Amino acid sequence: MLRSATRIPSTKFAFSRRMSSTAANAFRVFREVDPLRAYRRQRVLDQKSIGLVPTMGALHQGHLSLARQAAQENDEVFVSIYVNPTQFGVNEDLDSYPRTWDSDLEKLHALDQELAAYARGRITTIFAPTTKVMYPTLPPSSEIDGPGSFVTISPLAHVLEGASRPVFFRGVATVCTKLFNIVQPDKVYFGQKDVQQTVIIRRMVQDFHIPTEVRICPTEREPDGLAMSSRNVYLGTRRRAVGLVLSQALHRAQEQYKGGRRRRDDILWPAYDLLNSRVMEQEDSPPTERALFDVDYISLADPDTLQEVEVVEEGKGAILSGAIKMLPIEEAKEGEDLGLGDGQVPVRLIDNLILKPGA
Ligand code: AMP
Repeated sequence: MLRSATRIPSTKFAFSRRMSSTAANAFRVFREVDPLRAYRRQRVLDQKSIGLVPTMGALHQGHLSLARQAAQENDEVFVSIYVNPTQFGVNEDLDSYPRTWDSDLEKLHALDQELAAYARGRITTIFAPTTKVMYPTLPPSSEIDGPGSFVTISPLAHVLEGASRPVFFRGVATVCTKLFNIVQPDKVYFGQKDVQQTVIIRRMVQDFHIPTEVRICPTEREPDGLAMSSRNVYLGTRRRAVGLVLSQALHRAQEQYKGGRRRRDDILWPAYDLLNSRVMEQEDSPPTERALFDVDYISLADPDTLQEVEVVEEGKGAILSGAIKMLPIEEAKEGEDLGLGDGQVPVRLIDNLILKPGA
């Protein structure tokens, strides 16, 4: 039954295998639905719980933290790796999205070795379907009015990130519905980093009575505060340093909230202040020094509806979030680290902080 499940070749992970006697635990890679279902069915009969971590690959510590938590709360962890075309708009970066299959598997294998020491569960399964498997009847469309079977969650999908990326959450909700139907996980794991996604997935699970529990894990950050993201490899040193302004701005606004402010303007002004001054500073610098960026939005929103709030309700708290777009580098300096794509790939950075009720 498990014929199309690829076992990871033992030579590839010779080093990590020597570290423990877990060769029998090498995970399976499924590319088709039926064999994965057969494997899953056996897990049900064995009364094993499954935690699913959906990803688009290019794995970093943020993804691994989800798998780590999943392993602490389940008998087995399934990780899906699939770059979903329907969540990229027609002019977005589907082709340039980083794909790092070999190092993804190495990272998962190393994590699995770590989990052996303390976790309840292990990573047993990678699901890496082709697009023909995920979209079996029609070629997937990224057009707003394009044909296809899609899941839409309105109006949550149309604010914030959805305002600039109109098909994004339709694609996310559609692919997650497919993944949840295929895997039938007991729990699914998502990162706080993509906060709007977490709100939409929760709503979708509730509205469609999907029998799974949505678990949200904290945002993993670099030591300087930059939220980890697969797209950070495109930043390079100059844009990375300037891009930090987003998390700094959000932290300034959070300080206002912690200091007792509840009105929108009182909370947000220091964030706008910092962003504006950083924009002007870049515009006044020479092209060899600067990293220009556009501010898409800074939001203070209701945690359930994502509608903007004028005053944060004491018992509810709010979501403070923002997005900026780092523009291509205009003029490189000799020997400068411009990141993957030589600094020419625009990079959208998003980040958020939760303003907890009564904090
Ligand atoms: P992606 O591969 O970017 O679609 O992300 C897959 C999952 O990893 C999503 O649930 C993301 O929210 C989560 N994730 C991405 N970056 C981070 C991060 N820095 N910290 C925690 N979770 C993250």
